[in-house]
Amino acid sequence: MLATPTLAVVGRPNVGKSTLVNRMLGRREAVVQDVPGVTRDRVVYDALWNGRRFKLMDTGGWEPDAAGLQGFVAKQAETAMRLADAVLLVVDASVGATATDQAVARVLRRADVPVMLCATKVDDDRLTSDTADLWRLGLGEPHPVSGLHGRGSGDLLDAILEILPETPRDDFGASGGGPRRVALVGKPNVGKSSLLNKLAGEERSVVHDVAGTTVDPVDSLVELDGQVFRFVDTAGLRKRVKMASGMEYYASLRTSSAIESAEVALVLIDASEPIAEQDQRVLTMVVESGRALVILFNKWDKVDEERRHQLTRELERDLISVRWAERVNVSALTGRSTQRIAPALNRALESWDTRVPTGRLNQWLNDLVAATPPPVRGGKQPKIMFATQAQTRPPTFVLFTSGFLEAGYRRFVERRLREEFGFGGTPIRVSVRVRE
Ligand code: GDP
Ligand code: GDP
Repeated sequence: MLATPTLAVVGRPNVGKSTLVNRMLGRREAVVQDVPGVTRDRVVYDALWNGRRFKLMDTGGWEPDAAGLQGFVAKQAETAMRLADAVLLVVDASVGATATDQAVARVLRRADVPVMLCATKVDDDRLTSDTADLWRLGLGEPHPVSGLHGRGSGDLLDAILEILPETPRDDFGASGGGPRRVALVGKPNVGKSSLLNKLAGEERSVVHDVAGTTVDPVDSLVELDGQVFRFVDTAGLRKRVKMASGMEYYASLRTSSAIESAEVALVLIDASEPIAEQDQRVLTMVVESGRALVILFNKWDKVDEERRHQLTRELERDLISVRWAERVNVSALTGRSTQRIAPALNRALESWDTRVPTGRLNQWLNDLVAATPPPVRGGKQPKIMFATQAQTRPPTFVLFTSGFLEAGYRRFVERRLREEFGFGGTPIRVSVRVRE
C-alpha cells in the first residue's frame, strides 16, 4: 500500500514544462497561466501511461524575479528531490544549457532519487543534434521531445516509467487492509508538527514498521487509542523542516499531495486567530478531493471567552459549507482533547464508506418527492424515477429523472439525504442523469 510514485518536473521558466506536462497528461488544453502570484491548487496531476499510474508534479507557471532565478530554480530542484520519487529536468534545446541549467544540474546530480534530462522544443530533426551538447550536464542521455507537437513524448514516458519506482497502486485498498491513511494539513504555523509530535509521543511510539507491510518512509505510523493510523507525507513535519519564505507554493503542493494520498484529512485551524482564507482553501481542497474530514481547532489553550464568541460567528460565516464535519477543540501544547481525535477519524471514515441499500434509498426518495416535488420548469414537472448510490468514498448518488432538476432542488435532496442517513464527516455528491 505505497502511495503512487511522483515525478517532479523542474526547470527554468518558459522552457516548456507546462506544455510538456499537458502533453504527458494527454490534454490539449491551454498552457497554464504564467501570471506571477497566481495560485494553482492543483499542481499534482494523476497520470497514466501503459497502464501504470503515477503523479506528475508541475512546477511551472511561477515566475520569480529574474535576479534570483538561479537560486530559485536550485531551491525548486531541492524541494522536488525531497518530495518526488524521480525528477525530470527540462531544458530548452533551442537555447542550450544556460548557467542556470548547469546550477540546477549540479544540485540534481546529488539527488538520491533518479533524475532524467529532457530537451524540449525539439520540433524537428534539425535540433536533435544540438541536444547532444546537453550530455555535459552530467545527467545522462538528454531525451529530445516536443511538448508542442508530441514528438518523442511516448519514448520519454517509457523512459520515465523505467526510472520511477515500481509501486503497485492500490487505490485505498479494501477496508481493513492496513492502517487508515490520514493527511495532517493546515496553513503554516497552525501547529501540525507540534501535534504530530504530541500524538506520536516519544519517538519510539512512532511505529516505523508493521509486520507484513512496507512502510513508505515519508509516512508516520502513529498509534492512537490502540489503533494504528498512517499519517501520510509527514517527513517534512517530523524533521521540522520549515519552508523558506516564498515557499507557500510548495506548502500548497505538499498539502494537495497529502490529501490525495489520504482517506481522511485532519485540517488544523489556529483557533486563537481569525479563520483565514487559506484555512478555507485547505478545506475546499479536501472537499473537492472527496476525502473524509475532521476539523481540529488547535491552540485552544490560548482561546479566551471573547475569542470564543468571535469564533462562533466566524463558524457561521466561513465554515457553513463544511458544517457536516466534526470539530474538535484541541491543544498540541497541553494535549487537551487529543484523545477525541481517533474516534472522530473513525466516525468520518465510517460515513465515507457508507453504502445505502438501493431499496431503502428509493423508499425514502419516493416519500420525499411526494411531499416536496421538484419545481415545474417550462410547464413540465420533472419526475425523479430512481436513485442509486453509485459509489462510496465519498458516497456518490445518481438521480435518474425525466427532466432538468434545478440546483436548488439538488441541494435540497442533498440536505435531506444527510438528515436521513447522516454522513457526518464526509462530503457527498449528487448527480442527475436525465432520461429523455
Ligand atoms: P514553462 O514556463 O516551463 O511551463 O513553459 P511553457 O510550457 O509555458 O512554455 C513556454 C513557451 O514555450 C510557450 O510559449 C510555449 O508555447 C513554448 N513551447 C513549449 N513547448 C514547446 C515546444 O515543444 N516547441 C515549441 N516550438 N515551443 C514550445
Ligand atoms: P506547523 O507549521 O503547522 O507545523 O506549526 P508548528 O507545530 O511549528 O507550530 C507553530 C507554533 O505554534 C510553534 O511556536 C508552536 O509551539 C505553537 N503551537 C503549536 N500548537 C500550539 C498549541 O496548541 N498552543 C499554543 N499555545 N501554541 C502552539
